[in-house]
Amino acid sequence: MEFHRLGSLLHRRDIDQSKHLQQQLSTGIKSSAYGQKSWLSLFALFYARLTNELHQTKHKVSCCLLCQGTTQQHPLICPHCQADIQYFELEKIDHNLLHWPAIASHINHQHFEQLICLAPHQWPLSTWLSALKYQQRFELADLIAFLLASRLKASLHVSSNTVLTAVPIHIERWQERGFNQSHLIAKALANYLSITYQPMLLAKEKVTQPQVGLSGAERRKNVKNSFVVTQPKLVSMSPDIVLFDDVITTGSTANEACKTLKLGGANKITVVSATLAPPS
Ligand SMILES: [Zn+2]
Repeated sequence: MEFHRLGSLLHRRDIDQSKHLQQQLSTGIKSSAYGQKSWLSLFALFYARLTNELHQTKHKVSCCLLCQGTTQQHPLICPHCQADIQYFELEKIDHNLLHWPAIASHINHQHFEQLICLAPHQWPLSTWLSALKYQQRFELADLIAFLLASRLKASLHVSSNTVLTAVPIHIERWQERGFNQSHLIAKALANYLSITYQPMLLAKEKVTQPQVGLSGAERRKNVKNSFVVTQPKLVSMSPDIVLFDDVITTGSTANEACKTLKLGGANKITVVSATLAPPS
């Protein structure tokens, strides 16, 4: 409408009036731009309130997996049950399970410097890890990562050069299962700890049989030379690598992955796992 009037006025060479209209239009356009900003601000405010409401609702409708009580920091566990889990007392062993002779003597650890596990492989973590792996309870990956992050903040020295990665599975295993549970936990953990996550530092190129039921020597032989570095430049440029595996038993798999990373130029490696299981 306004453009139509401007065209008509120009046709009549009413320059003054057209200039006045141009100013009006310019003001209109500016106020329109301002209006867009206002709408964006309103939308941002609405979005922030909506996400806050959703976050609060998530906690209202969810309850603790263990006691069905009210949750606070994480929608799947209450603070009481979180505190009640039997964690390793890492502060007593200088935040490194390898300082504990009983553990260092049965874990293969020639190629990494620090081992941090959240808890022994027992309920509830063992049940949650199985449910994640075999029943696709993907929400448990975030819960396990949350528990890890809560404990790891004091134990893990994180610098701007720290890179977190997960022990990979072979592509055939991934195609069968559809996911790598260690990757899911590690990705959420990186987010909680604000660490750079690199899911593709390593690849597993050799199909190995499951480690369960194998002796220590058989486990080492089974995983020997099964990993390759896929991003050599990134590995050589990453002084501190944190390697995540969901469960550590004899350490053979993690140690082999660390050997490959060290050959690729990695400097210091910390192995982190959710649980530590004695070999069966
Ligand atoms: Zn609870």
